[in-house]
Amino acid sequence: MPKSPYEAFLEQVDEAVPYLKVEPEYVDMIKEPKEVLELTIPLRMDDGSVQMIKAWRSHHNNALGPYKGGVRYHPDVTRDEVVALSAWMTIKCAVIGLPYGGAKGGVRCTPSALSRGELERLSRAYALGISRFMGTDYDIPAPDVNTNPQVMAWFTDTYEKVIGRGEPSAYTGKPVEMGGSLGRSTATSRGGVLYILRETLKEMGLWGKDLTCALQGYGNVGSFAHMFCSELGLKVVGIADVEGGIYNPKGFDYASVKEHVMKRGTVAGFPDAEPISNEDLFALDVDVLIPAALEGVITEANAGKIKAKVVLELANGPTTPEGEAVLTDKGILVVPDVLANAGGVVVSCFEWIQGRTGDYWTEEQVNKKLDERMTQAFHEIWRLKKETDITMRQAAYVRAIGRVVAAMRFRGIWP
Ligand code: NAD
Repeated sequence: MPKSPYEAFLEQVDEAVPYLKVEPEYVDMIKEPKEVLELTIPLRMDDGSVQMIKAWRSHHNNALGPYKGGVRYHPDVTRDEVVALSAWMTIKCAVIGLPYGGAKGGVRCTPSALSRGELERLSRAYALGISRFMGTDYDIPAPDVNTNPQVMAWFTDTYEKVIGRGEPSAYTGKPVEMGGSLGRSTATSRGGVLYILRETLKEMGLWGKDLTCALQGYGNVGSFAHMFCSELGLKVVGIADVEGGIYNPKGFDYASVKEHVMKRGTVAGFPDAEPISNEDLFALDVDVLIPAALEGVITEANAGKIKAKVVLELANGPTTPEGEAVLTDKGILVVPDVLANAGGVVVSCFEWIQGRTGDYWTEEQVNKKLDERMTQAFHEIWRLKKETDITMRQAAYVRAIGRVVAAMRFRGIWP
């Protein structure tokens, strides 16, 4: 039986604990979410029928500050997945040194099957349902899979109507016209590719060489990852999404693929390319593999076929613990999600600061601060990995759990 995302999280914690001096009760606390809200939303469809929609908001840990994390719309969302994603947010915020704990939301729906009106009613109902469970100093949601600035705009508008006043920092990832930060939509991929991959390649002695890359997922994160790989000089030779994949050893031009995806909704069918499956994509002879779709895609079953030197996890939880063990044995470096994709939450934090102060920054200021944060966190983790001879994920968890527990000790156990 493959492990659930939450079981994978527990195993990742256990793999870090031997390298930490922490009291077992704090480890037990980190292994449980503090509170989880479950909602059943009756959604009025355009044809007059009503569908019952399940949704959750998980608050994993808030020792370092208010809960923070995205909201995912997906037909396969479960409570277990939402709780795991919230736990990974606790680790991620601590790795990168943000004043936040970890949260995540999930709505079990198929957004592509909903009309715009249905999507708006569902989004507003979810925002109303969690309104007593969030706020600028309590829990600040943001976008994730299948949610975007428009959904954040409906969330914010609903919340502000519930509380009867403006509250610009209650949600992040908003449209720039409503107080969103410049640079937020590209931040996850920019942080992961331009800054974290750059530093990784330098440390591995690969910087400046002709390198190739394969990319899974071509949504918000994957498409901009393609753009930034090109900017970094990497040739993206394989891309796959939920509908299929494409391969061309000469590499793909970002603008042309993006235009095709805008028209067709998928990379599949892109001209001048060989069709490939997602499994074939993982086995391509490339230098860098970037999973940027969903969790649990690199497993014991397919990790043995991976030829890349580096796996840069832009998705959350794409590698199972068993899959990672195979990659580590083969000498493949896994740059973990909690570091690689932290750029999104870093710029979300910048948006939260800008909303609270009313002092809005230029895109150059945002990108410069993002670079500083990501580069510093990378080197902290890299040093710890080298000194202790552990994986980058273990190093990230050691750093993060150490920070969270340090705050928990000051707070004490109450209640
Ligand atoms: P998105 O909805 O914009 O795109 C998801 C992409 O994954 C699409 O191209 C889709 O076709 C593809 N996909 C879905 N199921 C697939 C499958 N079974 N096989 C192959 N491809 C599949 O989502 P996104 O915002 O780009 O998020 C992608 C990943 O990055 C998620 O794991 C998310 O949690 C993570 N992430 C997102 C952000 C953010 O700021 N949006 C931040 C950090 C991490």
